[in-house]
Amino acid sequence: MNNGAYGLLPDDWARLCKEEGWPAFRAKQIVRGLYGDRVVDWQALTTLPGPMRSRLAECAPLQPLREVERTPSGADGVTKFLLEASDGERIETVWIPADGRVTQCVSSQVGCDMHCAFCASGQLGCVRSLTASEIVGQVAVLAQAMGQWPNNIVVMGMGEPFMNYDAVLRALRVLNCQQGPNIGARHITISTCGIVPGIERLATEGVQFELSVSLHAPNDAIRSRLMPVNHRWPLAELLPACDAYTAATGRIITYEYTLVRDLNDRPAHAAELIRLLRGRKARVNLIPLSPVAEFDGKTPSHADCLTFLDALLKAGIHTTMRRSRGKQADAACGQLRLRKLRESRHGTEKQ
Ligand code: SAH
Repeated sequence: MNNGAYGLLPDDWARLCKEEGWPAFRAKQIVRGLYGDRVVDWQALTTLPGPMRSRLAECAPLQPLREVERTPSGADGVTKFLLEASDGERIETVWIPADGRVTQCVSSQVGCDMHCAFCASGQLGCVRSLTASEIVGQVAVLAQAMGQWPNNIVVMGMGEPFMNYDAVLRALRVLNCQQGPNIGARHITISTCGIVPGIERLATEGVQFELSVSLHAPNDAIRSRLMPVNHRWPLAELLPACDAYTAATGRIITYEYTLVRDLNDRPAHAAELIRLLRGRKARVNLIPLSPVAEFDGKTPSHADCLTFLDALLKAGIHTTMRRSRGKQADAACGQLRLRKLRESRHGTEKQ
């Protein structure tokens, strides 16, 4: 199994111990070591005999992601980490404290192939998907650095989770499992740009994870300009798949809507969005655009954001607006990695 240690569920550890001829209680010790003691090196798990630790390093490698950079957190405590995998690829993860609880935003891929116009992660395409172990590994590294497991997980970092479906689901099951980090399913959110087969598949899993869908527009014309994925799965396919998901699971979907000045933030857009969502079980989360150099759209004024929010609320749509946080932390998806890649390229050019 070269999936890496963090990709294994308690049943997998039990099976592995059996295959290796180790007593069953060793599986419990391993899980407790990884998630209770937060060891990031098998040699540190001294309750196990030496040869067992060496064998584990071979058959279930613990390859922690190395911390490359930590952006200084502002007053709000939001801290963004740049982590490096064993092949040198870099990903971002963000630690977001709020009201005594912590949310960690994790990445599912190195880069992204979805090419949403305003998203820094997609500017350079997708290098590769992360393994389940690397997805859980992001949480394990921060748990060690920050001294606690986060309370909530959002898969809203770099990458499109449904383009890496199996690894993401496995990772979330590990994070959710009782003997592991034990993060409640309803505290785990997957965000997709609208990959319809992924939404259909999640509906059949029998899990209680939260689902967010990046909508960003009240019609196909605007959505296709912002999100190329809309050509493949336009609203007439996306929204029925979301309705079917809600009918099958009883879970209400949150639609993410990034507000871009003049492009989708006018009162007429709000009215169109209301018509689109009327009669649907839906929540809306408004996100004022976080400026990125590669996109010439502008952030709407705070007053315009509030007007948009108000219109939705008056129409009876459960709507929230994301507080603008983590600005110092380059917190929009993929911004920190992109900046570091550019810096290193400029560095090479200068040499
Ligand atoms: N690929 C997934 C998850 C990643 S991003 C998805 O598309 O849902 C999480 C959210 O942040 C998405 O809604 C994404 O569209 C949004 N986002 C990305 N870049 C942004 C920016 N510069 N400003 C505001 N929201 C942004």
